[in-house]
Parts: sequence; structure tokens; C-alpha cells
Amino acid sequence: MTDCIFCKIVDGDIPSAKVYEDEEVYAFLDISQVTKGHTLVIPKQHTKNIYETHPQVASNLFARLPKIASAVKEAFQADGVNIVNNNDEAAHQSVFHLHIHVLPRYGKGDGFGLKWEDNSGKYTQDQLTETAHSIASKIS
Ligand code: AMP
Repeated sequence: MTDCIFCKIVDGDIPSAKVYEDEEVYAFLDISQVTKGHTLVIPKQHTKNIYETHPQVASNLFARLPKIASAVKEAFQADGVNIVNNNDEAAHQSVFHLHIHVLPRYGKGDGFGLKWEDNSGKYTQDQLTETAHSIASKIS
């Protein structure tokens, strides 16, 4: 796609700090380096977000994550790794070419935050079943 910054990176028209490349997948350092080693993993084939991604493209992309995440963790002896994928502006997607953030973690105050409320016990089993049915009915 001509006006896509990540397609331009794949094509070599914009510089990037490459971490990994094969036929289907390209991985490079995120320019923002939220934590040291913050890496983006993308399909070479342009796809806007997770909803529009062909299952085979998603499969190829995710298949590379174990080795890339392991390398990111090992390179700087991180304590852990978060794998994050943002879809839509409301979910903080700013580049509309599917990408997976691999974020090595170095303990509290390392620069990455994720607010995660624990609502266990808030919903009855019937309410959870109803919510699950609403989602299940949309899976084709
Ligand atoms: P998101 O907010 O999930 O869409 O993430 C997009 C990410 O792309 C951000 O973390 C940016 O820092 C990163 N980014 C944007 N332009 C470049 C670039 N030219 N090279 C590397 N990373 C980039």
C-alpha cells in the first residue's frame, strides 16, 4: 500500500532497525522504545487491523512470535514480555498496518503500563454465559 509507513519500511523506502525478516514477516525496533528492545512484528502483506486479517496471515505472524519474543527477552535479560496488539483509534492504534508490539519488561516504573481491573465475582455465571453467547453468536 503506497501511503502506508510500515509497507514503506518493508520495501526499504524508510529506514528501520531490523530484528528479523523472512518471506512473510518483518520485525524491527519501535521508534518510541517504550522499554529497551521494544519490537514490532508485522506481516509483509498489508492488512489494516486484526479484523481484516486473513487467517493464514495471522497464523504466519503469530508463528514467529515465540522465537522473536524469546530473543527480545534474552537480549537484555528482561524479567518478562508483554505482547500487545492495538486495533482502532479507540484502542490506541496509530499505524493502520497490523502490528504486534513485543515489550520487554524490567520491573515497576519501566515505562510500560496497563490498567487491568479485576472484576472477579462481579458477574454471576448466568451473566457470564449470556455475555459469552453474545460473542459466540457473532463468530462465523
Ligand atoms: P500503535 O499505536 O499500536 O498503532 O503503534 C504504532 C507504533 O509504531 C508506535 O509505537 C510508534 O512509535 C511506531 N512507529 C511509528 N513510525 C515508526 C517508524 N518509522 N519506525 C519504527 N516505529 C514506528
